[in-house]
Amino acid sequence: MNKYPIIQLDHIIKRYFVGKPNELEILHGLNLKIYPGEFVAIVGESGSGKSTLMNIIGALDRPTEGEYILDDIPISKVKDTEISHIRCKKIGFIFQTFNLIGKLSAIKNVQLPMLYAGVSKKESLKRSKELLELVGMKDRMKHQPNELSGGQKQRVAIARAISNNPTLLLADEPTGALDSSTSRSIMDLFHKLHQEKQMSIVLITHSQELAKETERIITLKDGQIISDCKGEGYHEHLG
Ligand code: ADP
Ligand code: MG
Repeated sequence: MNKYPIIQLDHIIKRYFVGKPNELEILHGLNLKIYPGEFVAIVGESGSGKSTLMNIIGALDRPTEGEYILDDIPISKVKDTEISHIRCKKIGFIFQTFNLIGKLSAIKNVQLPMLYAGVSKKESLKRSKELLELVGMKDRMKHQPNELSGGQKQRVAIARAISNNPTLLLADEPTGALDSSTSRSIMDLFHKLHQEKQMSIVLITHSQELAKETERIITLKDGQIISDCKGEGYHEHLG
């Protein structure tokens, strides 16, 4: 196991301001470390605070109190103007609703984050083809999102999420909009990325079934971590 966490949450509190004088506390002091190469599930019932936590881990939102250290960077020290740069470099996002750009073909969706990151057109095109092949979508690369099934859209979204070699793949209910056999194939793809590419993955889900396949299951209840245990996918990490 690597010694340095890629994610470190120290006493994270999140309150939402819901009009004077009320603040609603959703996360009540979370402590968590996630290490490189781990495949972790964060599981909990609807409303337990999973997406609130995802937004903090993904640096889409800031904690009200506590410190979040992402890959050695204390996020509280990062200016708002610089945070999107860190986010793009470090985190690959996957959402329940896929969030592909409707007007762009599959390959252009995958290419876009690389172009933003300054990769050349030629190089990004080559890499997009490789990524689409990796996720089993090479034969659909010219298709637009509305010409793809839900599972196919999610495959393209996964290729896009890993295009800039993120430190962490962060997926919020990635199979929430998919039927069970399609969910299965998307889970298999996560296992493949974890095993073959050593990707660090945080899978947020309300499904106990899916969570238990991962290496480590963190259960959230009413904004608190109530358990953190090994899953069926656990194996000793090398290095
Ligand atoms: P989950 O993803 O586990 O379903 P969420 O993190 O989305 O849970 O929500 C946890 C709680 O926080 C819910 O009670 C929700 O209503 C509340 N909440 C989420 N976002 C906001 C917000 N922007 N403002 C106020 N309350 C919010
Ligand atoms: Mg949610």
